[in-house]
Amino acid sequence: MARTLLIATHNAHKTGEMRAILGEHFESITDLTTLPGMTPPDETGSTFAENSEIKALATSRAMPEAFVLADDSGLEVDALGGAPGIYSSRFSGENATDATNREKLLDELARPKHAGSPRTARFRCAVTVAKGGEVIAQFDGTVEGRIAESMTGEGGFGYDPLFIPEGYNQSFGELPEEVKNGMSHRGRALEKFRGWLIGDEMLQYRHGSGS
Ligand code: IMP
Repeated sequence: MARTLLIATHNAHKTGEMRAILGEHFESITDLTTLPGMTPPDETGSTFAENSEIKALATSRAMPEAFVLADDSGLEVDALGGAPGIYSSRFSGENATDATNREKLLDELARPKHAGSPRTARFRCAVTVAKGGEVIAQFDGTVEGRIAESMTGEGGFGYDPLFIPEGYNQSFGELPEEVKNGMSHRGRALEKFRGWLIGDEMLQYRHGSGS
């Protein structure tokens, strides 16, 4: 374990969750907030996987030596036909914030046409790993749940105060960070990445290049 992982994000919350989940596998986990020249690419893909690939490749091409991981994630609400989906971060427009996005979500679900509709939803996450400007692996994760009637909790970010995971009565905003990370879309995608990483390390060890 002597590697640095570069997360292709400016979202400190995502980096924090990734550090909590993957910390033991890397000597350091950094993100783009420490690299001022790195502007995020346009997310022109039509799926989470495509957008995570766009982000991973943009960073990997700029920094070919780095071991890069990019996450693209979002919320799908059944009553809204799967929206906001890949548009989760910009649901309430160009200058969207987490707060305006949550407000728009509650407003949409309060419209008469959604009265009585199920509030089922899921978070999805796609992760792309890249090095030398090439994709080397992709993983995904999903967590099912429902949208609460109002916000609860101060933890997490984005839609966390509105998302109650299946089998719980508290939102991701209320649940302790380690509980969220143990079952979340990101946690599940990163668990697959972790399995892949451990397998890769074992292989290097067996072939005599590990330490
Ligand atoms: P991205 O940075 O383009 O992947 O956009 C992700 C957006 O999806 C965030 O801005 C949040 O609105 C939402 N999102 C993704 N993951 C989470 C999560 O773990 N909790 C709450 N909201 C999330």
